[in-house]
Amino acid sequence: MSAFMPLDGFRYDEPALVLFSGGQDSTTCLGWALSRFSRVETIGFNYGQRHEAELCCRERIRSKIAADFSDWKDRLGPDHMIDMQSLSDVADCALTDHRRIEMEANGLPNTFVPGRNLLFFTFAAALAYRRGIRVLVGGMCETDFSGYPDCRDDALKSLQATLSLGMGSPFVVETPLMRLTKARTWALAEAVGGPRFVELVRCETHTCYMGDHEHLHDWGYGCGRCPACELRRRGWECWRAEDGKD
Ligand code: ZN
Repeated sequence: MSAFMPLDGFRYDEPALVLFSGGQDSTTCLGWALSRFSRVETIGFNYGQRHEAELCCRERIRSKIAADFSDWKDRLGPDHMIDMQSLSDVADCALTDHRRIEMEANGLPNTFVPGRNLLFFTFAAALAYRRGIRVLVGGMCETDFSGYPDCRDDALKSLQATLSLGMGSPFVVETPLMRLTKARTWALAEAVGGPRFVELVRCETHTCYMGDHEHLHDWGYGCGRCPACELRRRGWECWRAEDGKD
C-alpha cells in the first residue's frame, strides 16, 4: 500500500475515463483518478499532432504505473486510442502543421484547435456510455496562459449538461486542475502519488510544442524555449520555492 491515500480518504465505487494525452496535466489527472475511482480507463486521440512525442509517452506512463504503483495497478483499466485525423483537415493550426507559434489578432495563440476539447469529450462520453462509465476526467485549466475557450469551466459545465441531456444519461465532467496554477499541479501530483509519481511526471511526460524529448531539465524534457516549456519550468520553480523544496 502506498502511504499516500486520497486527499479525502474516500474511494468512489465507480469507474472513470481519463482523457490521457501523455502530457503533464493529463498524467496528473490520471494519478488523481486512480486514487479515487475503482477502475480507471484512458482515452487518447490521434489528430495529426505535429509531434508524436506526447503520444509515445502514453504507453510508457501506463506501463510504469502498472509496474511501480501496486495500489493503482489493479485499477488501471484498458486504453482506447481514437483516430481523429480528420480534425487536422479543419483545424488549420500550429499544433497540426509546421508553423511558427504566435499570437493571432483574436488574442489566442495559433496553437488553438477550435472545438478540440468539445469533440474529445463527446467521443469520450460516447465510449463511456457504452462501457458503463459516467465520470469523465480532463486536465483542462483556466489558469493556463493560452486562454483557450474550450478549457474554461463554464464551457465544460455547459458541455456536461449537453452530454447528459443528449445521451439521456448523467455524466460528470471532472477537471481537477481547473483552478490550479502550474505550481499547484506539481503539488497535486505529489499529494496523490508521492515523490515517485512526481518523478514519473517529470521524466515520462511530454509537453513541449517543439517535440523535444532529448533535453532533460529539472522540470522534465523539452526545448526549454517554447511557451509550453516556459510554463512548465515556471510552475516547477514556483512549486519548489512555495513548498520550500530547494
Ligand atoms: Zn519546448
